[in-house]
Amino acid sequence: MQIDCTERELFIFKKIATAAREAGVECYLIGGFVRDKIIGRPTKDADIVCLGDGIALAHAVAARFNPAPPVAFFKTFGTAQVKLPDLELEFVGARRESYSQNSRKPAVEPGTLIDDQNRRDFTINALAISLNQADYGSLIDPFNGLLDIERKLIQTPLTPGQTFSDDPLRMMRAIRFATQLNFTIAPETFASIQENAERISIVSQERITDELNKIMLSHRPSTGWDLLSKSGLLSLIFPQMMALHGAEYQDGHGHKDNFYHTLQVLDNISVNTNDLWLRWAALLHDIGKPATKKFEEGHGWTFHGHEVTGARMVPKIFARLKLPLNEKMKLVQKLVALHLRPISLTKENITDSAIRRLLFDAGEDIDSLMLLCSADITSKNKFKVKRYLQNFALVKQRLQEVEESDRIRNWQPPVTGEMIMEKFGLPPSRAVGVIKDAIREAILDGAIPNDFDAAYQFMLQKAQELNLRPIE
Ligand code: ATP
Repeated sequence: MQIDCTERELFIFKKIATAAREAGVECYLIGGFVRDKIIGRPTKDADIVCLGDGIALAHAVAARFNPAPPVAFFKTFGTAQVKLPDLELEFVGARRESYSQNSRKPAVEPGTLIDDQNRRDFTINALAISLNQADYGSLIDPFNGLLDIERKLIQTPLTPGQTFSDDPLRMMRAIRFATQLNFTIAPETFASIQENAERISIVSQERITDELNKIMLSHRPSTGWDLLSKSGLLSLIFPQMMALHGAEYQDGHGHKDNFYHTLQVLDNISVNTNDLWLRWAALLHDIGKPATKKFEEGHGWTFHGHEVTGARMVPKIFARLKLPLNEKMKLVQKLVALHLRPISLTKENITDSAIRRLLFDAGEDIDSLMLLCSADITSKNKFKVKRYLQNFALVKQRLQEVEESDRIRNWQPPVTGEMIMEKFGLPPSRAVGVIKDAIREAILDGAIPNDFDAAYQFMLQKAQELNLRPIE
């Protein structure tokens, strides 16, 4: 089999082959590495399955690379990793697996190459390449995985019902591979995911979320979310997202289907950023819509306050999905809360004050917010989109101009609470907060410039109004 390996990879495989021959064991490259090489995707790790003691082979291979370059060696559950600087090798003995009803962890016993290929999830992941002297480089493809790569098809080597029931994580993997590789899931395989969807309950949230994040980082993440929805998995793992589905009509008023709108926004932002968290913000930007949806007589459908409700939902969703509850979550929450602000500016006469307030509230995340907002412009009406984008460009320009003159983006109060306390001999108290807030509001309103002298004068004036006297 001709696959496009680098000189270095070929050198490494020869070394493994020699070590295996000396140890008297057969070994094969298998799984994702073979698949990705055939497809032409970059790969940094290779699995090697060995008919015999995989760990002993890993030791023998590691020894051949020491002392230079240094090789890191890790051993876990019958597998051993050898980390070379440019390629991570994982060695495992060929095995046969049998599953029980309540766990996705199989009982394992040593097996043949075909046993090992049988336990693989998809035909495209079951391809092996021999590293043995007799047939070095030949492809062992018992399930026509090569043909499925050509046909861009994801299907299971054994019956799909068995495969998914044994390890339901494979349902998530099928959808993730379809999304990453832009492949189709074979109809029989997809029907089986629909039948087995409930089995997802035995998979840990961490593993599910790993797959969701891989879907999110794909070229067109909407594919995965749509498949999750159609398979029945989404209602089980993320019902709030499922609730976005549907466009209702009443008295001639309709609203857009928020599920597909959300997916469009997600794809739009993905063209412009690979940042996982901005992609999550796009996915969640309208998550508050179902809870705030109302029909107003003579007016139509409204979703008032959905950005506030949505922002409140973010921590709960992150907790449920076991996404990190850290500053990334806060960023997503902030973007959801502010996502209407730039667009609302395009609809009114834009005052400098409105621009300053947006800069102040978004702070250093203003560029991310603008990315989200431009992704949110999705209409079937091309003229509407064009007009929105033009207005949007105008807002962007104004943001830049106001920022250049007023430096609000990373705003720090020019007069601090300590200065106020010192000047008027005050302890930490409400009056200090009142003066500080008044200074900030005056700057954002444009009543005074954003500098020390103006803020200091304003402080003196405000303090006088509050009957405070400076201490000499
Ligand atoms: P990626 O690196 O993008 O996750 P991969 O195919 O290399 O893709 P791994 O999780 O590293 O995925 O798994 C390596 C190989 O192990 C797969 O190609 C597949 O043959 C097999 N495999 C992994 N997980 C499963 C599973 N849950 N069920 C069956 N086979 C699996």
